[in-house]
Amino acid sequence: MPMLDYWNSRIERAPQEELHEIQERKLRQLVDTVYRSSVFYRNRFKEAGVKPEDIKTLDDIAKLPFTYKKDLRDNYPTKMFCVPMNQVERYHVSSGTTGKPTVVGYTRGDIELWTTSLARAMTSCGLGRGDIIQVSYGYGLFTGGLGAHYGAEEIGASVIPMGVGNTERQIELMVDLNATAIACTPSYLLHMNETAKKMGISIKDDSNLKVAILGAEPWSLETRKRIEDTMGIKAYDIYGTSEMSGPLFTECQEQNGIHVWADHFLLEIIDKNGDPVKDGQKGEVVITTLSKQALPLIRYRVGDISILNNRECDCGRTHPRLMRILGRSDDMLIIRGINVFPSQVESVLMTIPEVGEHFQIIAERQGELDDLTVRVEVTKAAFSDKLADLMKLEKKIQYELKKVLQLQTKVELVETGTLPRFQGKSQKVIDKRKI
Ligand SMILES: [Zn+2]
Repeated sequence: MPMLDYWNSRIERAPQEELHEIQERKLRQLVDTVYRSSVFYRNRFKEAGVKPEDIKTLDDIAKLPFTYKKDLRDNYPTKMFCVPMNQVERYHVSSGTTGKPTVVGYTRGDIELWTTSLARAMTSCGLGRGDIIQVSYGYGLFTGGLGAHYGAEEIGASVIPMGVGNTERQIELMVDLNATAIACTPSYLLHMNETAKKMGISIKDDSNLKVAILGAEPWSLETRKRIEDTMGIKAYDIYGTSEMSGPLFTECQEQNGIHVWADHFLLEIIDKNGDPVKDGQKGEVVITTLSKQALPLIRYRVGDISILNNRECDCGRTHPRLMRILGRSDDMLIIRGINVFPSQVESVLMTIPEVGEHFQIIAERQGELDDLTVRVEVTKAAFSDKLADLMKLEKKIQYELKKVLQLQTKVELVETGTLPRFQGKSQKVIDKRKI
């Protein structure tokens, strides 16, 4: 029987009417603030014909315009920020579709908000003082590592700031330091399990691991079951994108939806036309950050497809739950926790003169890890009988792709005319992974 514990029992179990009142008050403040402090939002509001005084109740949110990832790119690097630059305590950066990254800024308050959100979440997974949490997300510009790190410290746990890679050392330290929890991508945990076996170590029998907090890529319930059964642990889903702050929310011990903290974030689920779906229907996730300062987002189109569950959870928390993410509304691929857009690949390839017009991206699961192969047609002029020439070109393409994607890809060169041609919308991506 899981132990029920809360980081902030009063707010996590607050009546939903109280949460709605908080949301309404914060929404009005937010709209006022961004209208005053951001040229971007002021122009957006004017285009939509809406003024701050038009927003009185939560329902009025429908009058506000959406915000898109493209807006962040178009306003690179910091033109959407709403505080003076000397208030920005930290930056994180994620890759974008055109090679231009998205820059996210945090005030001291934003980092505290992020940390608190994860402290609530990690507590809801049964973690706390005495736990030893191995953080195996990337540290640095990516939000996963530092986000989980701060959350883990906040709840009084010990942290092993491992970062990614060096799998055998990860396993040794997990065993030697008695890690009780790990935060990483699900595919990486499966890879660790495989590697441990080769080292003659059973994570189930030889380690103290009891909890995994897994995310940054979609994963199925089948994968969860496999992880839990073979490793003897509980695996929880974690959610959040860099634009929202980074990872923010997890499932609780009920493992039936991800609690989104309603006092700080306002969730909507919309259909293709941008209208709200009926209760319990699936649609695109739209998020408004009610408490963020440096880079508040109003009706941000996250792009993930999910279902919202407003019923009170058996854990006692009243905050709404996002059910398992069902997919993306666009064509983004997530490979080993890294976002890859076909347009990024295209933009790289098209700068290389030896590359023809056609290419194909193949995502597949090799063992437990996802791999990306880019099949590229070489121009007739550049196609050589000499293997050495082709290998040189292959290496060059790999190198250029890695610079932009931050990901090692396989490259296969083929002769012009080899790849399928399409009438209308081309099918450049073949996702062979079954998730
Ligand atoms: Zn719950």
